Amino acid sequence: MGFNITSEDYVKYLRLAAAKIEENGAYITALDAVTGDGDHWANIHKGFSALMQMAPELETKPIDAVFRQIGATMMSKVGGSSGALYGGAYLAASKKVSGKEKLDSPDLCDALEAMVTDMMSRGKAQPGDKTMIDTLYPAVQVYKKAIAQQCSDRETMEMVRDAALQGAQSTEQMEAMKGRASYRQDKGVGHLDPGAVTMAYQITCMADYTIDHVI
Ligand code: ADP
Ligand code: MG
Repeated sequence: MGFNITSEDYVKYLRLAAAKIEENGAYITALDAVTGDGDHWANIHKGFSALMQMAPELETKPIDAVFRQIGATMMSKVGGSSGALYGGAYLAASKKVSGKEKLDSPDLCDALEAMVTDMMSRGKAQPGDKTMIDTLYPAVQVYKKAIAQQCSDRETMEMVRDAALQGAQSTEQMEAMKGRASYRQDKGVGHLDPGAVTMAYQITCMADYTIDHVI
């Protein structure tokens, strides 16, 4: 009992995230058509479709190997900035949880922190630059704080979910400093960053999955 994410759990979470991404194709494509080149949904969808193909195989592997395979898949199958960023992030998370069969809550927090750290160094973006970092970074900060304050697992995951949603929403008013939106004269102000929104889909699905099935 207690908070333990197995590889099977992780694959179930991936199915939820893949479905959420699938449902929002037109919306995300429209967001990226305004501030980017319109392919963000196609990129991320391609990655998740590849992961769904290998889901039965992933379920049987230790969690660090699951992350490693996700990273390699994102790197090789997903185009655009997001392929390299998600690929590198999952490879960093795999190293962080090396040797673990499953993840408790601090392990999950560590994995997410390794992801955001790798994304920030690879993409040279900071919080406030109007990217997917603006969703993941505050979610990780809140997660660390909740663990330090010994919040309940449910409370913690609710706080993480809310931080991700607020973070994604906060990109609407930001001026883009990285990525294609930064080439625009208006820097994308008034428009949500598509990568921040798809990141929020993933974190909310993770939080909801753990609340419903793990805690
Ligand atoms: P591309 O911009 O190369 O076409 P995608 O369309 O797949 O790649 O992804 C765009 C998303 O990637 C943006 O909405 C933003 O969230 C994210 N992004 C772009 N550049 C960076 C970066 N340097 N650091 C972090 N995230 C970035
Ligand atoms: Mg794009």
